[in-house]
Amino acid sequence: MAKKPKTPIKPETRLVTAGRDSQAYHGFVNPPVYHASTVLYPTAEDQVAHRSRYQYGRRGTPTSEALENALAELEGEGCAGVALLPSGLAAISTALLAAAGAGDHILVTDSVYRPTRTFCDGVFKRLGVETTYYDPLIGADIAKLFRPNTRAVFVEAPGSQSFEMQDIPAIAKAAHDKGVLVLMDNTWASSLYFRAFAKGVDLSIQAGTKYIGGHSDIMFGCVSANVKTLPTLKNTVYTMGLCVGPDDMYLALHGLRTLGVRLARHYESGLRVARWLAQRPEVLRVLHPALESDPGHAIWKRDFTGACGLFSIVLKPCSQSAVYAFMNELALFGMGFSWGGFESLVILFDCAEYRTATKWAPGGPTLRFHIGLEDADDLIADLEAGFAALAAVK
Ligand SMILES: *Cc1c(COP(=O)(O)O)cnc(C)c1O
Repeated sequence: MAKKPKTPIKPETRLVTAGRDSQAYHGFVNPPVYHASTVLYPTAEDQVAHRSRYQYGRRGTPTSEALENALAELEGEGCAGVALLPSGLAAISTALLAAAGAGDHILVTDSVYRPTRTFCDGVFKRLGVETTYYDPLIGADIAKLFRPNTRAVFVEAPGSQSFEMQDIPAIAKAAHDKGVLVLMDNTWASSLYFRAFAKGVDLSIQAGTKYIGGHSDIMFGCVSANVKTLPTLKNTVYTMGLCVGPDDMYLALHGLRTLGVRLARHYESGLRVARWLAQRPEVLRVLHPALESDPGHAIWKRDFTGACGLFSIVLKPCSQSAVYAFMNELALFGMGFSWGGFESLVILFDCAEYRTATKWAPGGPTLRFHIGLEDADDLIADLEAGFAALAAVK
């Protein structure tokens, strides 16, 4: 914003004002979408000296700059800059490549998003980076796993699918005592509900495909860095030639403006549906850190300022056909991967086959829900119909 408010503004206000410079765009509220590769220089002297505001499409346009500035402002104190990537997974792999190289060792939570694990066990292994998976509940005891060549600890809270809460400040303290970097996948809470840099994170990753986009129509990711990590991150992004299409950058910026109201609604409806599920006789447990009964609740309450609409449940043991009948009966819950859009979703999952540092034995079939922007009563009625179908097959 050209004019500065006289008093400090809240994150929800920042979502509206961040990265905007209307006078640079003839007064229009939003920046234009620059479809751009070549930048023309007025003279030979200018071209030889690279004298221009922008050099090349891949290196940045007014559209990418507006989005980067908005995301950086939103992260707040401690964030030195943001890199834009073509997907959440590209943001994860790029941050890891910026943090470690041949001969290095990294520590990754066993509850990590599965494709992150695939990257570590595949590309990173081939490049000579060794990964040790650790119990997400390890806390300060992470110090026992450091080796002389440990470069980074990767955290994700809550855990993918299983929602274990991690003590990130304790892990960060142990890591920084040894000069080890902390990388976090902050997609679940986003920078609105978890202030990564204030909690000791050095590189904070978000799959913008989820809530930043918010409408299930873009692939986008971003990595926010502090002063220590920004140069290597930017260099890695430029060297690998990574950039985002202009329309997706625009849609990310578009989504960002309404993130505050959308997340508040996902949070409220998600918690309502989670509480309703928790008292159902068919449900063994609800995995949602904002529920008082959740083992990670105290940490969530201490470190987070909200929750999104994503959580899981463990059903009491029942047949696979009963679970399928439940899912097939739902009319308002789509069955598909990803989440963070306006619509509700459900998937069946099982972490048992790929976890290595911990044992996943929840005691029944597990479902992950994304609670969208529909009316929560309608969603509850839909789930009630699902449970009736489940009971009919059981
Ligand atoms: C979806 C997701 C990603 C990957 O994002 P894409 O844009 O689909 O590549 C990364 N981390 C978490 C926690 C996710 O849920």
